[in-house]
Amino acid sequence: MQTPAQLLGRKLTGCQGTHGVFPACNFGCQPCYLSANSNRVRVDGAHTVAEVERQMAFFRERRGPAQYAQLIGGEVSLLPAEAHAEALEMMRRYGRMPMSFSHGDFDYEYLEEIAVRPDGSRRFDLVSFAIHIDSTMRGRRGIRHAGSERELHPERRRVREMFDRLTAEHGVRTHLAHNMTVTPDNLDEVADVVRVCRELGYRMCSFQPAAMVGDQRRWDEGYRTLTDDAVWAEAERGAGTRLPYKALQVGDLRCNRVTYGVWAADRYVPLLDDADPRDLRARDVFLARLPGNLLFAPPLIAAARVARALLLHPADIPTVVSWAQRFARRLGVRAVGGDLHPTTYVMHSFMDAADVAPAWDLLQRGVRATDPKLLTTQERLQACAYGMAHPDRDEIVPACVQHSVFDEAENARLGALLPLYRPRD
Ligand code: SF4
Repeated sequence: MQTPAQLLGRKLTGCQGTHGVFPACNFGCQPCYLSANSNRVRVDGAHTVAEVERQMAFFRERRGPAQYAQLIGGEVSLLPAEAHAEALEMMRRYGRMPMSFSHGDFDYEYLEEIAVRPDGSRRFDLVSFAIHIDSTMRGRRGIRHAGSERELHPERRRVREMFDRLTAEHGVRTHLAHNMTVTPDNLDEVADVVRVCRELGYRMCSFQPAAMVGDQRRWDEGYRTLTDDAVWAEAERGAGTRLPYKALQVGDLRCNRVTYGVWAADRYVPLLDDADPRDLRARDVFLARLPGNLLFAPPLIAAARVARALLLHPADIPTVVSWAQRFARRLGVRAVGGDLHPTTYVMHSFMDAADVAPAWDLLQRGVRATDPKLLTTQERLQACAYGMAHPDRDEIVPACVQHSVFDEAENARLGALLPLYRPRD
């Protein structure tokens, strides 16, 4: 995976996620990557904060500072708002840029309590949420079981408006991503979801083709008919253009596809065209010259570091200038009106537990699989871009392994530690 496009190990150390911090969820989706016993664990704010600290300290030690990390598990909004906020603060303390993963079925007051202190002062200048809304989900208050994605558009709008209100009332900036599980049943609605998310101003649109991982009772054989290309083609149909995903790569392309770009009025313009050799030369310059990580750098400092990097290598400046000219041409006159909206398209394809468990077992024993499917699985696990910290095991494991191998036993242990009903004294 050490291709010229690879970001991992050069500009990123991989996405990071929490586990075993609040395994329960109040929805019943199909599919669901949570294990069948996840709802036997009580949601407990003190446990969450302590465990988040343990995991983030391990990430900080192993992967350094300045990385995205997801506050994820079951449903994050089941946490009391105060504990939710404390967990986010803890993640920042360890150099993580946190993102809360939620179904979004909470009210404005909950969001406000996270972002704003009781005295009215801002606790965070920026909150980042990934909101999962799709028709595979069951249990939303407004619509318990949507028959189509279209029926959920009002909910997508409600969530967006809730975050806009937070900005208007308290000046808290928001970064909002939209997640959608894709199955053969909602595949042909992906394009419509892309269009609506664009209208509503979601900054990221992420698709997860359904995999047979987590709770087996929620699997459907039909998932096997889905291909990554089919899902991506529908996303492209919604964006109205090709979404080049080979110019920049995060881990293994069989796991992740990503396109960074900008909506200029009604046209989506990717930052890099992977079919244009001049763009790929510019990509090489960016990866070779730009400072390692600008995630937490204030805009002026970031600009100064970029300028310094280029000035130290004047021979690269024509490549960068010609890329900037091409990009401006692709944006066209639309850019003049200032209607520009950076948006990222992502697809993350989890693997089936039936492949992950044996492939991981072989990897643990240092054995390279001979079965082609298991070998592919091993390759993907070894290039994993989404890890979960296990300080006790002294390792970071792929999220696929977490859900396929560890979750069930971990939840059984947590269920004993955090039973749903406290025993009487
Ligand atoms: S190995 Fe699994 S968790 Fe890691 S990037 Fe690939 S699909 Fe994602």
